[in-house]
Amino acid sequence: MKCTRCKAPAEVQLRQHNSNFCRACFVFFFQRQVERAIEKERMFSLDEPVLVAVSGGKDSLALWDVLIDLGYQTTGLHLSLGIGEYSDASTDKTVAFANARSLPLITVKLADHGLAVNDVAGLTRRPACSACGTMKRHYFDQLAVDRGFPVVATGHNLDDEAARLLGNVLHWQMPYLARQRPVLQPTHERFVRKVKPLYRVTEYEAAVYAFMRGIDYVVDECPNAIGATQLTYKDMLNRLEATSPGSKLIFVQEFLQRAQPIFAAAPEEPPRTCVGCGMPSFGEMCGFCRLVRETETKRERRNAAKAVQ
Ligand code: SF4
Repeated sequence: MKCTRCKAPAEVQLRQHNSNFCRACFVFFFQRQVERAIEKERMFSLDEPVLVAVSGGKDSLALWDVLIDLGYQTTGLHLSLGIGEYSDASTDKTVAFANARSLPLITVKLADHGLAVNDVAGLTRRPACSACGTMKRHYFDQLAVDRGFPVVATGHNLDDEAARLLGNVLHWQMPYLARQRPVLQPTHERFVRKVKPLYRVTEYEAAVYAFMRGIDYVVDECPNAIGATQLTYKDMLNRLEATSPGSKLIFVQEFLQRAQPIFAAAPEEPPRTCVGCGMPSFGEMCGFCRLVRETETKRERRNAAKAVQ
């Protein structure tokens, strides 16, 4: 098997692109895919400071690595989620990556705010991923605004986007379909631009890139992901991809070109301002503040019950 680009012995085969690559050409190909996505979708320019959300997994660290190589001004933002050993390992890998390259990194430990994901989920009896998603969105937005970053980049890849699209289509989630884009422009003064520069590359390609670049990342899945519907969708799409290479890319690309503008044309109610934290909200109080309030109330009740035992 020879590299499609330089004819050297190939190390990786990408059936969806009908191509094989040696190590150097794969790294070039991957970085070009990301660069093209940034330029085509006008995600950000070389002059803008970019806040990169880094979990310690392959996707976000691969993204950060590419952005540095392409010359963008980046600062990492890591939320230590409070999911036991998984979070400890994620934080260690992220800090080690940043330190080895002398990169600026902001780390927020949710446990320091009394908001460790597993505690919040246990107290409020909400699914861990729902609580986690609410807190991630809040901290990404708030830290970006407070620290003057016009844009937040996340490591969502093609598999994430295809699985999300499949879920949204199966349930005809019209507002979500209207907002499923690789670039989300702010609709409130305390929102910033959200971008997904990896939306054209697969999870497999991100893993190969991380391996080839010697990036040390957390290999284990989050324990709370076990049984997640998103994983079922990914599995279904992987089986489709195995028999019909390129299906995921076509599914997402064609949606973005043909269908998404139709969903986006429907008038959308602009967000209000949360009475609790001043961040955008679709009710009087945002989902994050409601979650914090519920957590505090239930924690007080639990502590009071323990005190009388
Ligand atoms: Fe958070 Fe769920 Fe992802 Fe774990 S799997 S990091 S709990 S969203």
